[in-house]
Amino acid sequence: MECLFCKIAEKKRSAKIIYEDDLAVAFEDINPQAPVHTLVIPKKHISTNLDLRHEDNDLIGHLFQVANKIAKDKGIADRGFRLVMNCNPESGQTVFHIHLHMLGGRIMHWPPG
Ligand code: AMP
Ligand code: ZN
Repeated sequence: MECLFCKIAEKKRSAKIIYEDDLAVAFEDINPQAPVHTLVIPKKHISTNLDLRHEDNDLIGHLFQVANKIAKDKGIADRGFRLVMNCNPESGQTVFHIHLHMLGGRIMHWPPG
């Protein structure tokens, strides 16, 4: 199976990895949309959030905990940041391995567009 984010998690493709544990990897987005734009992914391949199973519930909570830690480490937690997970083409999902976008370091607008 060809999956870019599986390859990044397996270190078969390069990325600027800033965090890793048994379950998750976080790396800098190659095309940042904000001063902070980090992607948090599970090591397990899951194509979209529609493919989540009940046994993945703890894993998804863990992704949020990792995003929170990175926001705190980067000093943007108190100012605010945005977590986004796109699902399927109309949302803008282009990589079909779930990932939390952690965006911050500037004022975010709403609606997101
Ligand atoms: P999405 O559009 O929600 O699927 O998000 C995919 C994200 O992955 C985009 O923000 C891309 O800029 C980012 N991306 C694609 N390829 C890479 C890569 N090789 N390393 C880091 N980020 C990437
Ligand atoms: Zn994958």
